[in-house]
Amino acid sequence: MFNNTESFHIVLSRVYEHFFTKLVKDHATSRYFEGKDVQQVKEKQIKGIIRLHRLFTEKKEKQIRQELIRLGIKHENMDIDFSLFVETINYLELLFVKEIFKCKLTDLEKTFFESSKFFDVVRNYTAVGYIKEYVNREKVFLKEFIESNFRQKTIKIKDIIDRHILWKEKILEFLAEDTDTIDVELDPDKCDMGQWLEEVRHRNPEIVDRLIKLHRELHHIAENIISLKKEEKYVLLVNEYNYLVKTNLLFLSGLLAFLLSEEISELQRDPLTDLLTRRVLEDIYINVMELSLITGEPFGVAFLDIDNFKKINDTYGHDVGDMVLRTIAKILKKVLRKSDYLFRYGGEEFVVIVPATNERGFEKLLEKLRKKVEEEKIKIDGKTINVTVSIGGVVVKERYFVPLSDVINYADKLMYRAKKAGKNRVVIDTFSRNMEEVAT
Ligand code: GH3
Ligand code: MG
Ligand code: MG
Repeated sequence: MFNNTESFHIVLSRVYEHFFTKLVKDHATSRYFEGKDVQQVKEKQIKGIIRLHRLFTEKKEKQIRQELIRLGIKHENMDIDFSLFVETINYLELLFVKEIFKCKLTDLEKTFFESSKFFDVVRNYTAVGYIKEYVNREKVFLKEFIESNFRQKTIKIKDIIDRHILWKEKILEFLAEDTDTIDVELDPDKCDMGQWLEEVRHRNPEIVDRLIKLHRELHHIAENIISLKKEEKYVLLVNEYNYLVKTNLLFLSGLLAFLLSEEISELQRDPLTDLLTRRVLEDIYINVMELSLITGEPFGVAFLDIDNFKKINDTYGHDVGDMVLRTIAKILKKVLRKSDYLFRYGGEEFVVIVPATNERGFEKLLEKLRKKVEEEKIKIDGKTINVTVSIGGVVVKERYFVPLSDVINYADKLMYRAKKAGKNRVVIDTFSRNMEEVAT
């Protein structure tokens, strides 16, 4: 039965009926059919796949490539993940293979071989469409990211960053265009960024070592991208591309963290406690928030307020109050890690930002801060002053940018709840878009 293209198409449309029913029902794909005339879409798709297969058998390579690129672009614009797209194509192929197996053909092997080649072509060239769309969007995003984060801030290394961007853009163009040649430096030790990183390494080894690693990785990815494209392995290229984007963002965020740490050390700290001040809070917060969006790791922001501080001032005088503030700052700093940020927010109020944490870890840390303050015996003129703090902690794990003011306000409200509940305690919550929950 399977001796001509027509019967192949009969089987293909039969299989597609079944496949399509699953697409419409499956929870991962059903939403793409909402409000659509399903019958009409199905007929169009069946016609489409038969046309593709005809182009394939007629060896019209240029045309099938163009059609599939268009198909990839269309699916990317519908917000369908490439992995989901490939998964559904794999499923269709599986159904198809099962069906032709049932048909007991004489040239089974040849049919298998031909059909798997066809599905490979579908996966491979739609991947090109996906890449083209990714690249277009990435170019805009990259420009905005650089404009908003680097332009004003870092005139010193603007030149090096510009060259890094150019390097990345050349790779993006190479990816999106029909070319096999590219002129970029592949050796990480020979490029400007690599050399500059070595130069500044001693200034902050902790961050710069991570940057050097990420930078090497970027060059390694570039090499992979070039060879995958030459070999026309586009499905793998999508993965490598996604890895490039993620690594590049991690790299840029790390770079921002480094520049920020340089700026902070130049800025005046709070003279009484030597802590960071409110002036740098927003910049640091933005950096932590952006890093969280890239890595998918939540972070924590806490608001601390000393309990009954007025009474301490009233009882022992303002100077003793100052000394208590300094002592508390020292205790908090000792508990926190180097990668956490501690600010004196106002009089006897502190803010803590903890990157890469979760509800459990953050609560544990805040509880430890509270306990250490409670346990500290501050001795003045033979008298012991007992100090406690109330803490409101917010864990942010949203997948969109949450402004600092929203988080701080919520943490402040939670701190106030801790006061109302009797002080010397920690109240923590996860940040929620639904601000009704924020009401005290
Ligand atoms: P609560 O437990 O509700 O927080 O009570 P509280 O007394 O701590 O609250 P309140 O905010 O009314 O008092 C804070 C006091 O902190 C008022 C202010 O005089 C004092 N203060 C603010 N900044 C400083 C400072 O730099 N040094 C000293 N010694 N006192 C300060
Ligand atoms: Mg206060
Ligand atoms: Mg207070």
